[in-house]
Amino acid sequence: MGWVIGIVTVLVAAVAATGGFWLWREQRNAKAPRQLNAAVAAAKKAHRGSVVTRQTKAGKVVYLMPDGIEKPAPAVVQAAAKTLAALPKGATTKTAVVTVTLRGVPYGLASLDVAGQGYGVVAHRLAAVAKKATGLATVTMATGQPATLHQLVDTDPARRAINYQARQVLADNKKLSDAALAAVLTQPLLADLNAQNFTLTPTTLTILDAQSRPVAAVPLTRIAQFMKGGRAKEQPGKVIALTFDDGPNPTLTPQILAALHQAGAKATFFMLGSGIHDYPQAAKAVAESGNEIGIHTYDHQYLPGLSVTAGLDQVYGKMTQTYYHTFGTLPTLLRPPYGAIGKQLAAAEDLPAIQWTTDSQDWESKNAGAILNRIRSTAYAGGIVLMHDIQPATAQALPNVIRTLRGQGYRFVTVSELLGGRLLPGHQYFGRGDERPV
Ligand code: ZN
Repeated sequence: MGWVIGIVTVLVAAVAATGGFWLWREQRNAKAPRQLNAAVAAAKKAHRGSVVTRQTKAGKVVYLMPDGIEKPAPAVVQAAAKTLAALPKGATTKTAVVTVTLRGVPYGLASLDVAGQGYGVVAHRLAAVAKKATGLATVTMATGQPATLHQLVDTDPARRAINYQARQVLADNKKLSDAALAAVLTQPLLADLNAQNFTLTPTTLTILDAQSRPVAAVPLTRIAQFMKGGRAKEQPGKVIALTFDDGPNPTLTPQILAALHQAGAKATFFMLGSGIHDYPQAAKAVAESGNEIGIHTYDHQYLPGLSVTAGLDQVYGKMTQTYYHTFGTLPTLLRPPYGAIGKQLAAAEDLPAIQWTTDSQDWESKNAGAILNRIRSTAYAGGIVLMHDIQPATAQALPNVIRTLRGQGYRFVTVSELLGGRLLPGHQYFGRGDERPV
């Protein structure tokens, strides 16, 4: 009889142990998913705004969105995928809670920040990862969807001007090789007004490449005048810009600099690339004197007579290489020889064309008295005076020209001071308030 009791006792104990183990296992297995659900529920409860839940192949995603925005932007979807992917290998019940916040930046846009919290179950335990990204994308404040460039910029010339500012950021004072310089000048950057490859903060426009990596960070202070509502800050009052073409000249350019310095006046020099190459000291003296420098092609070609490729070579090519290696920066102003530039070239190069309102005709008269008379009788406020620093009579006339104009109440400014820094590619500028498409 005793052995029967013994067997029963053993059986009962075995059943009890099995049941206990089963119960324990059930509880153990349920614990982590329960913790996971509780964490997700708590995050949802604490959120004030829209909640969007999506099942993906990689796991479940709970988007905690700003109020009224129901559709996560592509950058948010990517951030969710990255959060799920950051969970340990073999995790099950994967869930990402992605909190989306929008920080207002100018132009009705917002900078998108994402905080991703990933949860999963690994070996019956709750695993959690956190991934944060700020300034992930720039979106429209009202919709949370990616912004396009035309929300910031009205016209294509303004877009090109912004690209050129980005090229300056990439090249200026960087001592680039010719190959690197050519790459900077031909990078597409913001390819058209539908471009979305940028982010905007209150201070900076950052242009991204095709892999969404930053390529150029452009301070808004450099480009505000090209953005929507931006305006030129033209120099008011009785101002005039003296300009000198065709130099530098090793003898006359220093004389002209001395006359300007003595009179406390500033001017703009449109130099030939070949001249900079031949007389780098004279060219550098102009830069060091604080006068402005523009370009006048490499060797004084009549641009409308050239193919676009040859024209580009006269503006960029050897011209910009020589300029860059001498001054360390990209040129910003172009005076086409004879004031002539065709529509096609103007559409292909990004420098504004600077014309003039008063022609001194110094190359024709070669006479100091005639130059002075011509300028005195045709100058007006906001105008640009064309002279040449390869004409001895011009160097001779300059002190009198300055004295006479000053006597009439003129102040001397550089071309970009006069025109106010909103100079557009494909446009030509004859003087203050006289801007025309090429
Ligand atoms: Zn010329």
